[in-house]
Amino acid sequence: MSFQNPVFIPGPTNIPESLRKACDMPAIDHRSPLFGQILHPARKGVREILKSANAEIFIFPATGTGGWETALTNCLSAGDKILAARNGMFSHRWINMCERHGLDVEVVETPWGEGLPAARYEEILSADPQHDIKAVLATHNETATGVKSDIAAVRRALDAAGHPALLFVDGVSSIASMDFRMDEWGVDVAVTGSQKGFMLSAGLAIVGFSPKAVEASQNAALPRTFFDIADMRAGYANSAYPYTPAVGLLNGLNEACTMLLNEGLENVFARHHRIAEGVRAAVRAWGLDLCAADPSLYSDTVSAIRTPEGFNATDIVTHAASKYGVAFGVGLGEVAGKVFRIGHLGSLTDVMALSGIATAEMCMADLGLDITLGSGVAAAQDYYRGNTAVPRQDAA
Ligand SMILES: *Cc1c(COP(=O)(O)O)cnc(C)c1O
Repeated sequence: MSFQNPVFIPGPTNIPESLRKACDMPAIDHRSPLFGQILHPARKGVREILKSANAEIFIFPATGTGGWETALTNCLSAGDKILAARNGMFSHRWINMCERHGLDVEVVETPWGEGLPAARYEEILSADPQHDIKAVLATHNETATGVKSDIAAVRRALDAAGHPALLFVDGVSSIASMDFRMDEWGVDVAVTGSQKGFMLSAGLAIVGFSPKAVEASQNAALPRTFFDIADMRAGYANSAYPYTPAVGLLNGLNEACTMLLNEGLENVFARHHRIAEGVRAAVRAWGLDLCAADPSLYSDTVSAIRTPEGFNATDIVTHAASKYGVAFGVGLGEVAGKVFRIGHLGSLTDVMALSGIATAEMCMADLGLDITLGSGVAAAQDYYRGNTAVPRQDAA
């Protein structure tokens, strides 16, 4: 595997040189005011990226999965009823975590490749006049299937049912890459990690709590220690942590927020959309289908590409790694062997995307699929030539 090639997995994503440097710093005293100069701007940057005026931001030394656990354990009590749809591996894992915490999950089984069933959510919420359901889970971008769901529609479902349940959103593979509107969508807990849209190594769970979620935490009885937001808040008041923070990563996060906000969030989203459209043009030229069932569901951060019946899609990923030193994503769970994934989020340019498309073509041709070399590349080139890139000074 070459260290020079970009990765095309949907996280960890490519790390820009400036962020690698920001993370590489001497030890400082994490109980000194110096640390506050890293922590507070990083939290402010995250809040801005979540498009929230007053969410409380907590950053744990963990990963996105720790962010899920933060949402559950701080807001809920054993036996609480949860509503969730299972439409891919990540929603499945979050449901599994709820069950392991003794929560009572009503699961709406949803075909993998479909988005969240907001209309079904509304029916179930409307049929709960006692408000037994305490939280609704929503995976904004199902990384396993390349499906983006409509969180505004989930909010509308809650409002139409007049239901006060909390709305927890997994934005691990969307936040900082795709439009995310915490306040406008009435999201109560937003969850992400450092290694996807924020372009850093794994190691931070990044969560935003709405005032309503913070209030719910006062009566939530699930056990929590490491992920207790009350301990974290008390630490932050003294520019510190209840334990030792990941200072280098936090410095990187601060720098990542500056980078993203300097580029302009709308430009960041437009860049992801443009790069994704090029990849999708290539997939069409190959005569292949996406796992996502409808264009309105297409994710701008990852494409899960179906391969022909009888072909093991995982072979493409194995072959790309061994022959070309390039990483693509395998299919997970129900779609294992049926799809391979091209991650196209984070620090990526048109030129980098073209190299990934070209490599996927070589692999498919090597493995005997009926792919004309250059067909996908040409389709993407056509798209990129006609849709001018916003130049980035800092794309490393
Ligand atoms: C990557 C990912 C996760 C898991 O995050 P980790 O940082 O690996 O714990 C959860 N949800 C989604 C949608 C993801 O893409």
